Amino acid sequence: MQKKEFEELQKCISIFNVAHQLNLEVIERKGNEFFAICPFCGYRSKTIKANMKLNYIKNSYHCFDCGKSGYAIGLYATLRNLDNKSAFKELLEKEAFSCDKSEFVFDTNNKIADLNYRDTVYRSLLNTINLKNDHKKKLEDLGLTKSYIEDYNFKSIPTKKFASRIISYNLSKNFDLAGIPGFFQNEEFKWDFTPLNGIFIPVYSSTNKIKGLSILLDKTYNGTNNIWFSSNNKINGTPAENWLMSFNIKEDTHTIILTDDFITAHNLNLGLKVPILAFSSIQNSKNLIKQLKNTNIKKIIFTVRLSDETQKIDYLIEKLLSGLLDVGYDIEIKTYFDIESMYDSSVLEMFNNNVS
Ligand SMILES: [Zn+2]
Repeated sequence: MQKKEFEELQKCISIFNVAHQLNLEVIERKGNEFFAICPFCGYRSKTIKANMKLNYIKNSYHCFDCGKSGYAIGLYATLRNLDNKSAFKELLEKEAFSCDKSEFVFDTNNKIADLNYRDTVYRSLLNTINLKNDHKKKLEDLGLTKSYIEDYNFKSIPTKKFASRIISYNLSKNFDLAGIPGFFQNEEFKWDFTPLNGIFIPVYSSTNKIKGLSILLDKTYNGTNNIWFSSNNKINGTPAENWLMSFNIKEDTHTIILTDDFITAHNLNLGLKVPILAFSSIQNSKNLIKQLKNTNIKKIIFTVRLSDETQKIDYLIEKLLSGLLDVGYDIEIKTYFDIESMYDSSVLEMFNNNVS
């Protein structure tokens, strides 16, 4: 988000604008503080003495009489009987007090930070958190070794709200989190991310930089257990891109193994050390073709884990591979049922036959 846009947005969800929208009776101003009649308990014993303090810097309110306190969006939400998200939306749609919104369109999303900066921030985040034992066991059951799990920075996502806030606060002292997918500012304008039950799966570039974080959820959500660490449509948030993960791909690489699953890619990297390209939830081949365009890759061995969903394979082939075939890539499909069968010689053999 541009600085100007952020300033405009701040005006709209400031405590002063909220007071204006709610028609609160503001009595006096002292510096950054405004004093108003509390909308919850009203006039104090027939006198017009302001009992509610509105702080313009903290965006907070506090009533000396009834003790009600909180922040701007929450105040609007409570009095209008909305949840915070709808309150935020409604405030953005209204013309803000002393804020010229004509022809002003909010783009709440930031431009993404470059790869090196993302890598630095994400590594810093991962260094401050741990991998829980049950998550460690889950990754080992999926075929990864203890040392691989450590080397590649797999970590458990904090599940507590205060933890995500403290971690984000500490990171924000050293880094600008605007432009880092996953981070956003909450209604108090404090940096935060969404606490979740799941594992951060770092998605690497061929130069071993972390492009972004994929999340392996403990429980399926909306039909998937794979989502991106993203902060789309949040205050000062940044959407994740559909990154591809690459291992061992060099300038002269002409044959790669392609997979539709990041854990499988990590498994292949651990077991075979061959050039690997992996994607997650890609809707069409455009992104892949873009990625492959400036390389010397000619041959793609597509490995797909077979479950009972034969439909999924048809879908992938139709949506994804047909585009690649059109562009002229040589494609072979290798299916497997479990990690052991993936490691069996045929994938490696197929690969070696193509390299030699
Ligand atoms: Zn009150």
